[in-house]
Amino acid sequence: MRIAVIGAGIIGLATAAELDRRGHDVIVFDPEPANGASRAAAGMLAAAAEAAWGQGGLLPLARTSAALYPAFVAVLEAAVGRELGYGTTGTLTVGVDAADRAALFELGEMQAAHAVPVQRLTGTAARELEPALGPAVTSAVLAGDDHSIDPRRVTDALREVLGDRVREEQVVGILRREGRVTGIRLASGEDLRADVVVAAAGLGAAGIDGLPGLPLRPVWGDILRLRVPAALRPLLTRTVRALARGRAVYVVPRDDGTVVLGASVREGGVAGVQAGSVLALLRDAETVLPGISECEIVEMLARPRPGTPDALPLLGRPEPGLVISTGYDRHGVLLTPLAATLGADLAEGLPLDPATAAAVDPLRFAADARTRSSSADLTPPAVAALAGAGQKGR
Ligand SMILES: Cc1cc2nc3c(=O)[nH]c(=O)nc-3n(C[C@H](O)[C@H](O)[C@H](O)COP(=O)(O)OP(=O)(O)OC[C@H]3O[C@@H](n4cnc5c(N)ncnc54)[C@H](O)[C@@H]3O)c2cc1C
Repeated sequence: MRIAVIGAGIIGLATAAELDRRGHDVIVFDPEPANGASRAAAGMLAAAAEAAWGQGGLLPLARTSAALYPAFVAVLEAAVGRELGYGTTGTLTVGVDAADRAALFELGEMQAAHAVPVQRLTGTAARELEPALGPAVTSAVLAGDDHSIDPRRVTDALREVLGDRVREEQVVGILRREGRVTGIRLASGEDLRADVVVAAAGLGAAGIDGLPGLPLRPVWGDILRLRVPAALRPLLTRTVRALARGRAVYVVPRDDGTVVLGASVREGGVAGVQAGSVLALLRDAETVLPGISECEIVEMLARPRPGTPDALPLLGRPEPGLVISTGYDRHGVLLTPLAATLGADLAEGLPLDPATAAAVDPLRFAADARTRSSSADLTPPAVAALAGAGQKGR
Protein backbone atom coordinates (compact mmCIF):
# COMPACT_ATOMS: atom_id res chain seq x y z
CA MET A 1 0.00 0.00 0.00
CA ARG A 2 0.98 3.61 -0.42
CA ILE A 3 0.95 5.19 3.03
CA ALA A 4 1.38 8.86 3.92
CA VAL A 5 2.50 9.55 7.48
CA ILE A 6 1.93 13.06 8.84
CA GLY A 7 4.58 13.97 11.40
CA ALA A 8 8.20 12.92 11.80
CA GLY A 9 8.35 12.84 15.58
CA ILE A 10 9.39 9.59 17.23
CA ILE A 11 5.87 8.16 16.76
CA GLY A 12 5.47 8.97 13.07
CA LEU A 13 9.02 7.90 12.22
CA ALA A 14 8.82 4.60 14.11
CA THR A 15 5.41 3.82 12.58
CA ALA A 16 6.74 4.62 9.10
CA ALA A 17 9.82 2.44 9.65
CA GLU A 18 7.61 -0.44 10.76
CA LEU A 19 5.37 -0.03 7.71
CA ASP A 20 8.48 0.11 5.51
CA ARG A 21 9.73 -3.10 7.15
CA ARG A 22 6.37 -4.72 6.29
CA GLY A 23 6.89 -3.84 2.64
CA HIS A 24 4.69 -0.78 2.19
CA ASP A 25 5.51 2.31 0.17
CA VAL A 26 5.76 4.98 2.90
CA ILE A 27 6.33 8.73 2.79
CA VAL A 28 6.57 10.93 5.90
CA PHE A 29 5.79 14.66 5.82
CA ASP A 30 7.00 17.17 8.40
CA PRO A 31 8.22 20.75 7.94
CA GLU A 32 10.56 20.31 10.96
CA PRO A 33 11.33 16.61 11.43
CA ALA A 34 12.06 15.46 14.99
CA ASN A 35 11.93 18.97 16.42
CA GLY A 36 8.72 18.67 18.46
CA ALA A 37 8.25 17.00 21.84
CA SER A 38 10.56 14.17 20.77
CA ARG A 39 13.52 16.57 20.66
CA ALA A 40 13.05 17.49 24.31
CA ALA A 41 12.31 14.04 25.71
CA ALA A 42 14.60 12.65 28.40
CA GLY A 43 14.04 9.09 27.20
CA MET A 44 12.98 7.46 30.45
CA LEU A 45 11.24 4.15 29.81
CA ALA A 46 9.66 4.25 33.23
CA ALA A 47 6.65 1.95 33.22
CA ALA A 48 6.94 1.32 36.96
CA ALA A 49 8.03 4.74 38.17
CA GLU A 50 5.35 6.51 36.11
CA ALA A 51 2.58 4.34 37.55
CA ALA A 52 0.09 6.70 39.16
CA TRP A 53 -3.26 6.40 40.87
CA GLY A 54 -6.11 6.96 38.43
CA GLN A 55 -3.99 6.03 35.42
CA GLY A 56 -4.46 2.28 35.58
CA GLY A 57 -5.03 2.12 31.82
CA LEU A 58 -1.49 3.26 31.12
CA LEU A 59 0.37 0.50 32.94
CA PRO A 60 -0.49 -2.43 30.63
CA LEU A 61 0.40 -0.34 27.57
CA ALA A 62 3.62 0.86 29.17
CA ARG A 63 4.71 -2.62 30.22
CA THR A 64 3.88 -4.11 26.82
CA SER A 65 5.88 -1.40 25.07
CA ALA A 66 8.81 -1.72 27.49
CA ALA A 67 8.89 -5.44 26.70
CA LEU A 68 9.10 -4.63 22.97
CA TYR A 69 12.06 -2.26 23.47
CA PRO A 70 14.98 -4.74 23.32
CA ALA A 71 13.90 -6.03 19.90
CA PHE A 72 13.06 -2.52 18.65
CA VAL A 73 16.53 -1.31 19.65
CA ALA A 74 18.31 -4.37 18.25
CA VAL A 75 16.67 -4.01 14.82
CA LEU A 76 17.38 -0.29 14.62
CA GLU A 77 20.96 -0.57 15.89
CA ALA A 78 21.63 -3.29 13.34
CA ALA A 79 20.16 -1.12 10.57
CA VAL A 80 22.35 1.92 11.29
CA GLY A 81 25.37 0.20 12.81
CA ARG A 82 25.58 2.27 16.00
CA GLU A 83 24.20 2.26 19.54
CA LEU A 84 21.12 4.21 20.60
CA GLY A 85 22.05 4.77 24.26
CA TYR A 86 19.73 2.06 25.61
CA GLY A 87 20.49 1.95 29.34
CA THR A 88 19.27 -1.06 31.31
CA THR A 89 20.54 -0.25 34.79
CA GLY A 90 17.12 0.60 36.23
CA THR A 91 15.64 3.67 37.89
CA LEU A 92 16.01 4.82 41.48
CA THR A 93 13.23 7.04 42.83
CA VAL A 94 14.33 8.88 45.97
CA GLY A 95 12.60 11.02 48.58
CA VAL A 96 13.75 13.68 51.00
CA ASP A 97 11.27 14.47 53.78
CA ALA A 98 8.57 12.48 55.58
CA ALA A 99 5.89 13.42 53.04
CA ASP A 100 8.14 12.24 50.17
CA ARG A 101 8.69 8.97 52.05
CA ALA A 102 4.94 8.54 52.43
CA ALA A 103 4.42 9.25 48.72
CA LEU A 104 7.11 6.71 47.79
CA PHE A 105 5.49 4.19 50.12
CA GLU A 106 2.13 4.75 48.38
CA LEU A 107 3.77 4.36 44.99
CA GLY A 108 5.35 1.11 46.21
CA GLU A 109 1.95 -0.15 47.37
CA MET A 110 0.42 0.54 43.99
CA GLN A 111 3.35 -1.03 42.15
CA ALA A 112 3.04 -4.12 44.37
CA ALA A 113 -0.71 -4.28 43.69
CA HIS A 114 0.08 -4.45 39.97
CA ALA A 115 2.91 -6.97 40.47
CA VAL A 116 5.51 -4.44 39.31
CA PRO A 117 8.89 -5.65 40.59
CA VAL A 118 10.42 -2.90 42.78
CA GLN A 119 12.66 -2.86 45.82
CA ARG A 120 12.31 -0.40 48.72
CA LEU A 121 15.57 1.00 50.07
CA THR A 122 16.79 3.27 52.84
CA GLY A 123 18.65 6.46 51.99
CA THR A 124 21.92 4.79 52.98
CA ALA A 125 21.29 1.83 50.69
CA ALA A 126 20.42 4.25 47.86
CA ARG A 127 23.77 6.05 48.38
CA GLU A 128 25.58 2.72 48.21
CA LEU A 129 24.10 2.29 44.73
CA GLU A 130 24.63 5.93 43.70
CA PRO A 131 27.37 7.55 45.82
CA ALA A 132 26.70 11.01 44.35
CA LEU A 133 23.32 11.17 46.11
CA GLY A 134 23.46 13.67 48.96
CA PRO A 135 22.63 13.26 52.66
CA ALA A 136 19.15 14.75 52.13
CA VAL A 137 17.99 11.48 50.54
CA THR A 138 16.19 9.41 53.19
CA SER A 139 14.23 6.82 51.20
CA ALA A 140 14.18 5.18 47.78
CA VAL A 141 12.51 2.68 45.49
CA LEU A 142 14.53 0.79 42.87
CA ALA A 143 12.71 -0.24 39.68
CA GLY A 144 15.17 -2.53 37.93
CA ASP A 145 13.06 -2.83 34.79
CA ASP A 146 12.70 0.92 34.17
CA HIS A 147 15.27 1.59 31.46
CA SER A 148 16.21 4.63 29.35
CA ILE A 149 17.18 5.54 25.81
CA ASP A 150 18.48 8.59 23.97
CA PRO A 151 15.44 9.70 21.91
CA ARG A 152 17.56 11.89 19.62
CA ARG A 153 19.67 8.91 18.62
CA VAL A 154 16.46 6.98 17.97
CA THR A 155 14.95 9.67 15.72
CA ASP A 156 18.30 10.17 13.94
CA ALA A 157 18.47 6.43 13.26
CA LEU A 158 14.86 6.24 12.07
CA ARG A 159 15.43 9.19 9.72
CA GLU A 160 18.52 7.47 8.36
CA VAL A 161 16.54 4.27 7.74
CA LEU A 162 13.79 6.19 5.94
CA GLY A 163 16.18 8.42 3.98
CA ASP A 164 14.55 10.67 1.39
CA ARG A 165 11.13 9.28 2.24
CA VAL A 166 11.01 11.94 4.96
CA ARG A 167 9.92 15.10 3.14
CA GLU A 168 10.17 18.52 4.79
CA GLU A 169 6.66 19.68 3.96
CA GLN A 170 3.62 20.61 5.98
CA VAL A 171 0.29 18.83 5.55
CA VAL A 172 -2.73 21.13 5.69
CA GLY A 173 -5.62 18.79 4.95
CA ILE A 174 -7.00 15.29 4.51
CA LEU A 175 -8.62 14.34 1.18
CA ARG A 176 -11.74 12.18 0.98
CA ARG A 177 -13.74 10.57 -1.75
CA GLU A 178 -16.83 8.36 -1.50
CA GLY A 179 -16.65 7.96 2.27
CA ARG A 180 -12.97 7.17 2.66
CA VAL A 181 -9.74 9.05 3.10
CA THR A 182 -7.78 9.05 -0.14
CA GLY A 183 -4.78 11.29 0.53
CA ILE A 184 -3.40 14.55 1.86
CA ARG A 185 -3.03 18.16 0.79
CA LEU A 186 0.37 19.81 1.31
CA ALA A 187 0.94 23.47 2.20
CA SER A 188 2.41 23.89 -1.29
CA GLY A 189 -1.06 23.09 -2.70
CA GLU A 190 0.02 19.67 -3.99
CA ASP A 191 -2.43 16.80 -3.44
CA LEU A 192 -1.02 13.36 -2.82
CA ARG A 193 -2.96 10.12 -3.15
CA ALA A 194 -2.52 7.45 -0.48
CA ASP A 195 -4.27 4.21 0.39
CA VAL A 196 -3.86 5.06 4.06
CA VAL A 197 -3.02 8.27 5.91
CA VAL A 198 -1.43 8.00 9.37
CA ALA A 199 -1.90 11.22 11.36
CA ALA A 200 1.01 11.25 13.83
CA ALA A 201 1.49 15.00 14.02
CA GLY A 202 1.51 15.31 17.82
CA LEU A 203 -0.20 18.56 18.82
CA GLY A 204 -0.19 19.62 15.16
CA ALA A 205 -3.06 17.19 14.47
CA ALA A 206 -5.45 19.88 15.75
CA GLY A 207 -4.52 22.16 12.85
CA ILE A 208 -5.06 19.74 9.96
CA ASP A 209 -8.29 20.18 8.00
CA GLY A 210 -10.55 17.17 7.90
CA LEU A 211 -9.30 15.32 10.99
CA PRO A 212 -11.85 14.59 13.71
CA GLY A 213 -11.73 17.00 16.68
CA LEU A 214 -9.20 15.63 19.15
CA PRO A 215 -8.90 16.62 22.84
CA LEU A 216 -5.22 17.59 22.67
CA ARG A 217 -3.67 20.29 24.82
CA PRO A 218 -0.07 21.50 25.19
CA VAL A 219 1.62 20.44 28.44
CA TRP A 220 4.91 22.30 28.45
CA GLY A 221 8.13 20.80 29.68
CA ASP A 222 11.38 22.68 30.35
CA ILE A 223 14.47 20.48 30.34
CA LEU A 224 18.26 20.92 30.59
CA ARG A 225 21.30 19.07 29.33
CA LEU A 226 24.48 19.34 31.45
CA ARG A 227 28.05 18.14 30.97
CA VAL A 228 29.56 16.46 34.04
CA PRO A 229 33.18 17.52 34.81
CA ALA A 230 35.65 14.66 34.26
CA ALA A 231 36.48 14.50 37.98
CA LEU A 232 32.84 13.74 38.88
CA ARG A 233 32.15 11.07 36.23
CA PRO A 234 30.12 9.04 36.30
CA LEU A 235 27.80 11.25 38.32
CA LEU A 236 25.15 8.55 38.10
CA THR A 237 24.98 5.03 36.74
CA ARG A 238 21.19 4.89 36.48
CA THR A 239 18.26 7.29 36.19
CA VAL A 240 17.41 9.03 39.44
CA ARG A 241 13.93 10.44 39.92
CA ALA A 242 13.31 12.44 43.05
CA LEU A 243 10.56 13.86 45.13
CA ALA A 244 12.37 16.74 46.74
CA ARG A 245 9.99 18.08 49.40
CA GLY A 246 7.04 17.31 47.18
CA ARG A 247 8.52 18.52 43.89
CA ALA A 248 9.39 16.05 41.16
CA VAL A 249 12.71 16.17 39.31
CA TYR A 250 14.81 13.60 37.44
CA VAL A 251 18.35 13.17 36.19
CA VAL A 252 19.07 10.72 33.36
CA PRO A 253 22.73 9.86 32.68
CA ARG A 254 23.96 9.51 29.09
CA ASP A 255 27.02 7.50 28.08
CA ASP A 256 28.77 10.60 26.68
CA GLY A 257 29.33 12.22 30.10
CA THR A 258 26.23 14.39 30.01
CA VAL A 259 23.05 14.19 32.04
CA VAL A 260 19.51 15.27 31.24
CA LEU A 261 17.75 17.19 34.00
CA GLY A 262 14.01 17.61 33.79
CA ALA A 263 11.33 18.44 33.57
CA SER A 264 8.68 20.97 34.38
CA VAL A 265 5.03 20.20 33.72
CA ARG A 266 3.15 23.41 33.01
CA GLU A 267 -0.03 24.17 31.12
CA GLY A 268 0.69 27.80 30.41
CA GLY A 269 3.42 30.41 30.58
CA VAL A 270 5.98 31.32 27.99
CA ALA A 271 6.53 29.29 24.82
CA GLY A 272 10.30 29.28 25.42
CA VAL A 273 12.33 28.16 28.41
CA GLN A 274 10.79 29.53 31.62
CA ALA A 275 13.30 30.96 34.12
CA GLY A 276 11.36 29.85 37.20
CA SER A 277 11.16 26.28 35.92
CA VAL A 278 14.92 26.14 35.38
CA LEU A 279 15.56 27.61 38.82
CA ALA A 280 13.30 25.02 40.48
CA LEU A 281 14.76 22.10 38.51
CA LEU A 282 18.35 23.03 39.41
CA ARG A 283 17.51 23.69 43.07
CA ASP A 284 15.56 20.44 43.49
CA ALA A 285 18.18 18.39 41.66
CA GLU A 286 20.93 19.88 43.83
CA THR A 287 18.99 18.89 46.97
CA VAL A 288 19.38 15.20 46.11
CA LEU A 289 22.48 15.36 43.90
CA PRO A 290 24.81 18.13 45.12
CA GLY A 291 27.32 17.57 42.29
CA ILE A 292 24.84 18.95 39.78
CA SER A 293 25.94 22.49 40.65
CA GLU A 294 29.46 21.69 39.34
CA CYS A 295 28.15 20.74 35.89
CA GLU A 296 28.18 22.86 32.75
CA ILE A 297 24.79 23.71 31.24
CA VAL A 298 24.97 22.86 27.54
CA GLU A 299 21.32 23.21 26.57
CA MET A 300 17.98 24.46 27.86
CA LEU A 301 14.89 23.61 25.90
CA ALA A 302 11.11 23.75 26.22
CA ARG A 303 8.56 21.82 24.19
CA PRO A 304 4.85 21.10 24.59
CA ARG A 305 3.82 17.48 25.16
CA PRO A 306 0.70 16.38 23.28
CA GLY A 307 -1.51 16.00 26.36
CA THR A 308 -4.84 14.19 26.58
CA PRO A 309 -7.46 14.28 29.36
CA ASP A 310 -6.59 10.80 30.68
CA ALA A 311 -2.89 10.75 29.66
CA LEU A 312 -3.60 7.83 27.29
CA PRO A 313 -2.87 8.05 23.55
CA LEU A 314 -5.38 8.70 20.79
CA LEU A 315 -4.79 5.70 18.53
CA GLY A 316 -7.28 4.13 16.19
CA ARG A 317 -8.83 3.92 12.74
CA PRO A 318 -11.89 6.17 12.98
CA GLU A 319 -12.78 5.72 9.30
CA PRO A 320 -11.54 3.84 6.23
CA GLY A 321 -8.13 5.03 5.09
CA LEU A 322 -7.31 7.05 8.22
CA VAL A 323 -5.21 6.07 11.24
CA ILE A 324 -4.79 8.53 14.12
CA SER A 325 -1.75 8.11 16.38
CA THR A 326 -1.14 11.05 18.71
CA GLY A 327 -1.70 12.21 22.30
CA TYR A 328 1.26 10.32 23.75
CA ASP A 329 1.54 12.95 26.48
CA ARG A 330 4.44 12.19 28.92
CA HIS A 331 5.02 8.67 27.63
CA GLY A 332 5.61 8.82 23.90
CA VAL A 333 9.16 7.52 23.95
CA LEU A 334 8.24 4.62 26.22
CA LEU A 335 5.20 3.82 24.06
CA THR A 336 7.03 4.10 20.71
CA PRO A 337 7.53 0.38 19.90
CA LEU A 338 3.90 -0.37 20.79
CA ALA A 339 2.61 2.66 18.87
CA ALA A 340 4.61 1.62 15.81
CA THR A 341 3.31 -1.95 15.92
CA LEU A 342 -0.32 -1.04 16.58
CA GLY A 343 -0.25 1.90 14.16
CA ALA A 344 1.08 -0.38 11.41
CA ASP A 345 -1.52 -3.03 12.27
CA LEU A 346 -4.30 -0.45 11.98
CA ALA A 347 -2.92 0.82 8.68
CA GLU A 348 -3.05 -2.75 7.38
CA GLY A 349 -6.68 -3.05 8.49
CA LEU A 350 -5.92 -5.41 11.39
CA PRO A 351 -8.01 -5.01 14.56
CA LEU A 352 -6.55 -4.14 17.98
CA ASP A 353 -7.52 -6.32 20.92
CA PRO A 354 -10.85 -4.94 22.26
CA ALA A 355 -9.50 -3.73 25.63
CA THR A 356 -6.64 -1.78 24.03
CA ALA A 357 -8.88 -0.44 21.28
CA ALA A 358 -11.35 0.93 23.85
CA ALA A 359 -8.60 2.42 26.06
CA VAL A 360 -6.94 4.37 23.23
CA ASP A 361 -9.96 5.04 20.97
CA PRO A 362 -9.24 8.52 19.55
CA LEU A 363 -12.95 9.38 19.70
CA ARG A 364 -13.53 8.19 23.28
CA PHE A 365 -14.10 11.72 24.58
CA ALA A 366 -16.54 12.76 21.91
CA ALA A 367 -19.06 10.06 21.12
CA ASP A 368 -20.60 12.33 18.52
CA ALA A 369 -17.27 13.61 17.16
CA ARG A 370 -17.91 15.26 13.86
CA THR A 371 -15.45 15.46 11.06
CA ARG A 372 -14.37 19.05 10.65
CA SER A 373 -14.71 20.59 7.25
CA SER A 374 -12.29 23.42 7.94
CA SER A 375 -9.56 24.20 10.46
CA ALA A 376 -11.66 27.14 11.68
CA ASP A 377 -14.01 24.57 13.28
CA LEU A 378 -11.41 23.70 15.90
CA THR A 379 -10.85 26.98 17.66
CA PRO A 380 -9.05 26.88 21.02
CA PRO A 381 -12.35 27.11 23.00
CA ALA A 382 -13.63 24.04 21.12
CA VAL A 383 -10.46 22.16 22.04
CA ALA A 384 -10.85 23.23 25.66
CA ALA A 385 -14.49 22.10 25.74
CA LEU A 386 -13.60 18.71 24.31
CA ALA A 387 -10.74 18.32 26.76
CA GLY A 388 -12.98 19.38 29.65
CA ALA A 389 -15.46 16.63 28.76
CA GLY A 390 -12.89 14.01 29.71
CA GLN A 391 -11.10 15.81 32.53
CA LYS A 392 -12.19 13.35 35.24
CA GLY A 393 -9.37 11.77 37.19
CA ARG A 394 -6.66 14.27 36.31
C1 LIG B 1 10.52 17.91 28.44
C2 LIG B 1 9.94 16.60 28.00
C3 LIG B 1 10.44 15.41 28.51
C4 LIG B 1 9.89 14.19 28.12
N1 LIG B 1 10.44 13.03 28.61
C5 LIG B 1 9.91 11.83 28.25
C6 LIG B 1 10.47 10.63 28.73
O1 LIG B 1 11.45 10.65 29.49
N2 LIG B 1 9.91 9.45 28.34
C7 LIG B 1 8.82 9.41 27.51
O2 LIG B 1 8.35 8.31 27.21
N3 LIG B 1 8.29 10.55 27.00
C8 LIG B 1 8.80 11.76 27.36
N4 LIG B 1 8.25 12.91 26.88
C9 LIG B 1 7.06 12.82 26.04
C10 LIG B 1 7.46 12.54 24.60
O3 LIG B 1 8.45 13.47 24.22
C11 LIG B 1 6.24 12.67 23.69
O4 LIG B 1 5.17 11.88 24.15
C12 LIG B 1 6.62 12.18 22.28
O5 LIG B 1 7.79 12.83 21.84
C13 LIG B 1 5.49 12.41 21.31
O6 LIG B 1 5.97 12.08 20.02
P1 LIG B 1 5.17 12.49 18.73
O7 LIG B 1 5.92 11.97 17.58
O8 LIG B 1 3.74 12.10 18.88
O9 LIG B 1 5.16 14.09 18.79
P2 LIG B 1 6.26 15.13 18.31
O10 LIG B 1 7.63 14.73 18.70
O11 LIG B 1 5.78 16.46 18.83
O12 LIG B 1 6.20 15.07 16.73
C14 LIG B 1 5.11 15.57 16.01
C15 LIG B 1 5.65 16.04 14.67
O13 LIG B 1 4.57 16.40 13.84
C16 LIG B 1 4.96 17.50 13.04
N5 LIG B 1 3.77 18.18 12.55
C17 LIG B 1 2.88 18.92 13.25
N6 LIG B 1 1.93 19.40 12.43
C18 LIG B 1 2.23 18.94 11.18
C19 LIG B 1 1.62 19.11 9.91
N7 LIG B 1 0.51 19.84 9.74
N8 LIG B 1 2.19 18.50 8.82
C20 LIG B 1 3.31 17.76 8.97
N9 LIG B 1 3.93 17.57 10.16
C21 LIG B 1 3.39 18.16 11.25
C22 LIG B 1 5.79 18.35 14.00
O14 LIG B 1 6.67 19.20 13.26
C23 LIG B 1 6.53 17.29 14.81
O15 LIG B 1 7.82 17.02 14.29
C24 LIG B 1 8.80 14.15 27.21
C25 LIG B 1 8.32 15.34 26.68
C26 LIG B 1 8.88 16.56 27.06
C27 LIG B 1 8.37 17.84 26.46
